[in-house]
Amino acid sequence: MKRPQPSLRLSAFLVSFLLSGCYLTRQGSDSSLSNAVLATTFPAGSAYHDTDLDNLTTYDISLKISPGLDGFTAEQRVGYTHQGKEPTDHLIFHVFPNSKFLMVGGQRNIAVTEVAIDGKRAAFDLSGTMLRVPLGEKLQPGRRVQAVLRFTGRAPQLPYSTDLLMQGLQQLFEIIGGGGKASGNYGLYGLSGGILSLGHWHPIIPRLRGNEFDTEEPSGIGDVADFEVANYQVDVTAPVSAVLVSSGETVSESKSGSTKTVRYHGGAMRDFAVSCSPKYQAVTQVVDDIRLNSFYLPEHKDGGVKVLDYAAKALRFYRRAFGTYAYRELDVVEAPLRGGAGGMEYPAMVTIAHLFYDPNSMGASVPGLGDLLKSSPTQDMDGMMGEMLEFIVAHEVAHQWWHAMVGSDSKEHPFIDEALANYTSILYFEEYYGKAAADKQVELQMKLNYQMHRAMGGADHAVDQPAASFGNNFAYAAIVYGKGALYFKALRDQVGKEAFIKMMRTYADRFRFRIAQPSDLQKAIDDALIASRSPFTPQKSQLLARRWLYESHGDEDIGTLQFGKLIEMIMPPEFLSTPEGKQMKQLMDTLGPLLMGMLGGGLGGGEGAPEQMPDLEQLLKMLQGLGGQMEQ
Ligand SMILES: [Zn+2]
Repeated sequence: MKRPQPSLRLSAFLVSFLLSGCYLTRQGSDSSLSNAVLATTFPAGSAYHDTDLDNLTTYDISLKISPGLDGFTAEQRVGYTHQGKEPTDHLIFHVFPNSKFLMVGGQRNIAVTEVAIDGKRAAFDLSGTMLRVPLGEKLQPGRRVQAVLRFTGRAPQLPYSTDLLMQGLQQLFEIIGGGGKASGNYGLYGLSGGILSLGHWHPIIPRLRGNEFDTEEPSGIGDVADFEVANYQVDVTAPVSAVLVSSGETVSESKSGSTKTVRYHGGAMRDFAVSCSPKYQAVTQVVDDIRLNSFYLPEHKDGGVKVLDYAAKALRFYRRAFGTYAYRELDVVEAPLRGGAGGMEYPAMVTIAHLFYDPNSMGASVPGLGDLLKSSPTQDMDGMMGEMLEFIVAHEVAHQWWHAMVGSDSKEHPFIDEALANYTSILYFEEYYGKAAADKQVELQMKLNYQMHRAMGGADHAVDQPAASFGNNFAYAAIVYGKGALYFKALRDQVGKEAFIKMMRTYADRFRFRIAQPSDLQKAIDDALIASRSPFTPQKSQLLARRWLYESHGDEDIGTLQFGKLIEMIMPPEFLSTPEGKQMKQLMDTLGPLLMGMLGGGLGGGEGAPEQMPDLEQLLKMLQGLGGQMEQ
C-alpha cells in the first residue's frame, strides 16, 4: 500500500472519526509526529517516499545527558498499535542496559520513575531487562495506545584499552576462565575513554512471538536487536562542547547557556543509537545524495579518513547491487567496543572498534612487543590492520541492508544477517580488488574462524541456531560468521556472481522494513532461480542450504587448519623463501597445534580445566620468542 496524499488522509481521518468516536482522537495524537518524521527521512523524490509506514510505533523522546556524560534523564512518549491476534492486558518494554552482562557492581543502569497509559498514571514492574506495564483495559488487536515513560540512566565507566592484541588475549582468558562462557559486554552502553555510547538505551517494545511479547533475557552472545521498524523523534540535550552523533537526521539545533539541544528524526528505524564525546572530529563525503560522516578521535585521523573511503565504496557498491539505501545520512563512528566486537550496526549509524584505527596499537601495551611487531621486516602490520579495518567497515555497512532495512530475527536465526553481511564484504573485496583479494578474505575471515574453532576442540554445528545456543563467542563466530558465510559463497559458486546479487536484491525488495524468516530467504532464492530458469534448480538449492545450514559437513567442505598455509597467506613470499622464513613455517607447524591444544583444554571447560589454563605471561613469552624468530 502507498502512503495516501495529505488531502486523502484528512478526508479518511474525518470519516473514520465520525464513524468510530473517541478512539481515533487518541490515535490522531501521534500520527502527525509520524508524518513529520517520515517527511524528513523520505522526502519527495526518495525511493521510499510512498511506502506505507505511518502506522508504525512512534517514539518521541527527550534525552538530557549529564555534564559529565555519565548519565541522563529521559521522557519517552510511545504510540503503539497492537499487532497480535488476541487482545493483550499488558505492554512489555525491553530495558537492555539492565542486562546482567552490562551492570557493574550489581547496580541497575536504568531506573524507571513513572509510567502513564493514555494519560493515566500506571503501575509497572521492572525485573531484569523486562518492564511490564499492566493495562487498565485490554488492548484490542489493531488498536493504538499511548504510553509515557520517565527514566534515568547511569553510564557505567568501562576500562579503555587501546591494544588490540592485549584485548584479544584478555577476552580469550576471560572465556577460558569462565569455562567457555562469554563476558557478554561489547561496550555498546557505557562511558569509556571520554566517549558515551548509548546503544539499545531506551525502553523498547519487543516483537511478538505468536501473541506474546518476547520476554527473553539477553544471552550475552550475539545481537539483541530484532525490532520492528518505528518512527523516532528524539531531542538530545548535551553539553555544548560535546559532539553528538545519532541514527537520526538533524532537524533543528538550539543553544541555551552551557547546553545545546538537537532534534533528530528517524523514520522506519528499528532502534535509535546515540554517541557523544567532546573529542570527536569528523570528515564528510556526499555519496550520490547520501551524507556520509566518519567520526574519529583526534589521534586517529588517518584511520578516520580511511574509514570514510571504505564506507563510501561500500555504499556505492551495495546501492548498485542490492537497491537504494533508505536513509539520507550514514554515520560511521569510532567507538570503544570490547569483548571481541569489531563493529556494531544501528539504523543509519555503525560503530567501529577504536582498536582497528591505529596500526601501531597492536601489542603496544607490552614493553618491547609493540616495537618488535612494528620493526619486524617480515610483517606488514599496517597492511594487515588496514585490511581488517576495511573488512569490518564493509561488514557493518552491509548491515544497513541486512539488518537495518531488511530485518531478520537476529536472536533465533542470527545467520541470516550476520553470515550474509560477512559474505557481502567478500563481494566488496572482489568488486574493488579482484578475485584473489576476495579469496584471501574468505580464508582469513571465514575458513580460519571455523578451522581455529575445530583445532581448539570445538564441535561442528548446524548454522541456523539461536545465538544463545552457542557456548561462547568463538563458537558463534566460527559457525555463524565462518561456516554460515561460506554457505552464501557455495550458493554463489553454483549460480555465479550476477545471479547471486540478483537473488539478494529480490530478497531485499520483498523484505525492506519487514522481518524475514529463513524460509522467506529460501523462497526468494528459489523464486529467483525459477525466474532465471537456472539449471541450479530450487530443489538443488534447498539441498545446498540443508547441507550447510542444518547439517555438519564443515570439515569436509571447509577443511582443517594448516599452519603452514596460514603462514603462507600472511607472510610475504620473498621472506618465506629465505632460510628464516622456512624456519618460521617449521616453528609454527610445531608451536601452532600445541597452542591450539592448550587453549582447547581451557575451552572444553571440563573438570580440572583451570589447571590447564595457559599463563598469560607464558603465552607472551612465546609470542616474544616468535617475534625474535621473525627478526633473525
Ligand atoms: Zn555483523
